[in-house]
Amino acid sequence: MSLETILSIKNLNKNYGRIQAVKDLSFDIQKGNIYGILGPNGSGKSTTLGIILNVVNKTSGSFSWFNGNTSTHQALKKVGAIIERPNFYPFMTATQNLELICRIKGVSYDKIDEKLQAVNLFERKNDKFKTYSLGMKQRLAIASALLNDPEILILDEPTNGLDPQGIHEIRQIIKSIAKNGTTILLASHLLDEVEKVCSHVIVLRKGEKLYSGRVETMVASNGIIEVKTEDDIESVVNVLKNYHETASVNIDGDLIIIQLENDISAATLNKYLFEKNIAVSHLVKRKPTLEQQFLDLTNNN
Ligand code: ADP
Ligand code: MG
Repeated sequence: MSLETILSIKNLNKNYGRIQAVKDLSFDIQKGNIYGILGPNGSGKSTTLGIILNVVNKTSGSFSWFNGNTSTHQALKKVGAIIERPNFYPFMTATQNLELICRIKGVSYDKIDEKLQAVNLFERKNDKFKTYSLGMKQRLAIASALLNDPEILILDEPTNGLDPQGIHEIRQIIKSIAKNGTTILLASHLLDEVEKVCSHVIVLRKGEKLYSGRVETMVASNGIIEVKTEDDIESVVNVLKNYHETASVNIDGDLIIIQLENDISAATLNKYLFEKNIAVSHLVKRKPTLEQQFLDLTNNN
């Protein structure tokens, strides 16, 4: 399978006065995947999207669309994006609103029904926009972003403010759009959203990339081992810290929590402790949840 690069970002920086919103950020977007930019509020997600869409000026670094074969202006004609709440006319129907957008974008009206179907609004196409729920409004925004058959759809916090049903529906729609071959890039502060929707993730904290790769790879870290001992806990911690298979060792109540450097078994660790004359009363290996890993990644330490 040949990889087709949709977007390549290299050493991107953005400063707002003294605030560094984006720091030396690099990543690539390959065709056919669903990417999530994941990070807490203020981590630089929207700024990054704004830069690649030419609505925010970068401070330094570079980005190029479609292998740099076209100007950003030309490239953006093949991009569909929703980065703020779109404005539709409240007294016009969904179809009338999309017709207006077709005229602005220079696309034929033929696409309208197909795109309304893609976002499950076909049955409601003749209802006025003002009668729509927030979820329906968001789905209409997605339909409008799809009118020019973009190569990539970019969404900033696509489920913000929606009820659970609305959230579920949007996530299903994003996945079905991706199945039809459209690459997706979405920003979200919700770990479970990225876990449920995305194939790839870029984790940001304070504008810096902490992780990028497949979502499953992020899940499959080397795990943790919990240990309890009747021996002196501080000296056991010191012995563990000196073991080359441990990445970090922390005390949590009467438990010692060991983050592993490599995927070793509980038995291997037990053997090492035994050789050091340490007796344990509890020794369990766990895979950290993605949630725990995200908290670890985004915590300041
Ligand atoms: P996110 O989308 O991840 O919540 P943003 O990209 O909106 O993060 O913001 C990143 C940082 O840049 C934050 O500290 C934010 O306050 C700051 N920031 C964003 N936009 C502006 C702006 N127009 N002027 C000044 N600071 C800004
Ligand atoms: Mg944002």
